[in-house]
Amino acid sequence: MRLRHLSTALLVLLAGVALAAQRPTLTDGVRAFVSVDAEVVALTNARVIDGTGAPARDGQTILIRGDVIAEAGPAASVRIPDGATVIDLAGKSVLPGLVMLHEHLYYPAGPGVYGQFGESFTRLYLAGGVTTMRTGGNMNGFMDMNLRERIAAGQKPGPAIDATAPYVNGRNTFIQMRSMTGPEEARRQVAYWADMGATSFKAYMQISRAELAAVVEEAHARGLKVTGHLCSVTYAEAAAAGIDTLEHGFFAATDFVEGKTPDACPGQGQGQQTIAALDPEGAPFKALVKTLIDAGVSLTSTLTVFETFTPGRPTPPGLDVLAPHLQDAFTQSLARVAKNPDSVYRTLFPKAMALELAFARAGGLLAAGTDPTGGGGVVPGFSNHRQLELLVEAGFTPVEAIMIGTLNGAKAMGLDARVGSIAPGKQADLLVIRGDPSRTIADVRQVETVFRLGTGYDPGKLIDSVKGMVGYW
Ligand SMILES: [Zn+2]
Repeated sequence: MRLRHLSTALLVLLAGVALAAQRPTLTDGVRAFVSVDAEVVALTNARVIDGTGAPARDGQTILIRGDVIAEAGPAASVRIPDGATVIDLAGKSVLPGLVMLHEHLYYPAGPGVYGQFGESFTRLYLAGGVTTMRTGGNMNGFMDMNLRERIAAGQKPGPAIDATAPYVNGRNTFIQMRSMTGPEEARRQVAYWADMGATSFKAYMQISRAELAAVVEEAHARGLKVTGHLCSVTYAEAAAAGIDTLEHGFFAATDFVEGKTPDACPGQGQGQQTIAALDPEGAPFKALVKTLIDAGVSLTSTLTVFETFTPGRPTPPGLDVLAPHLQDAFTQSLARVAKNPDSVYRTLFPKAMALELAFARAGGLLAAGTDPTGGGGVVPGFSNHRQLELLVEAGFTPVEAIMIGTLNGAKAMGLDARVGSIAPGKQADLLVIRGDPSRTIADVRQVETVFRLGTGYDPGKLIDSVKGMVGYW
């Protein structure tokens, strides 16, 4: 009898191990950022916002055992074992770790040049509560994959990374991007980077339909997903090619550009004029939404980067971690934006919010990301909070915005069996927040502890370790 119990327990344990990523042994360098390190942790008196869109629940206990959530429920239903580290969270909230889909380990550093700041960015993402992320495009080659491995091995602090390969793009002028020569090369690129350890692909603005189809076919044959920031290919064409996700909500859709030449990007501005003029209630938009939903294509909202192009918006959070030269560069960028009060973004930004809301309300899967590119000012970690605030401004409830930034991201990446919500058996990736973001979404900025794989990290220490240095490494 005893033996049978033991073997059942062992099976459950093994199943848990197979499902969750292994909790690594941390180096001293990583341990310096750890605030909670115990085999069994009980979070008590917590307000739980579980990531599924369910209302917040007060008086909850979450029991963490190793790297998984062992139990979660009302205080009376969860027995706290002897020897557990008990953390009283009265007045605080627990959320799933954020799962963000359009992150980068690079940042604009000069004309056409992107500085590779993977060291500081991975710390900032973790500090902001991002426990799983996709790098939505890579301008460096191997760094994203190397950092993923080192974080997984406990040698560096940071989120779990879905490491995107270098962009797959057609003929283009970016000095840090390859110009593919056709579908044959598209296949070779995908095969090469998949063999080297890339776990997703991002198609870019000048790719052709044939190249995109080849990318999707080769990636899918390897069980990998493809997303796109498109222009030459319309959203409907990409859905037909089998793409999994489209980045930037509807900002990059060229479906409504009159007389568009197939496989040619009419210019980002052309597409954006048509989006700014689009009626969310009109038949053309509704038909595109139906096409995307029928094809199972998810959308990533990246309102944060577009907010920095829009005149009259608040200054984004987190700028003080940037090195002085990057702070100056962003100040200049803001001045350029302010000088153009008639910018298309004045109408485009609120319209894009309305379109994303309409897509989700129609049943589309909307996920979130931040995209630290553009003219700068989108600071990893801080901007992930801003993204949730902007979703609420777009018309989602705070609890829906949290779902978009957690479970929806996990679903879009195919990781929702392991991460994205608070439930027994899931990975112990959790945020402790001072306040109640289910009422006031801005409370998500007050991150007290970030649990990843059951280990609690101190966001203040992570941020302090890079303050003023973001722009050097
Ligand atoms: Zn991007």
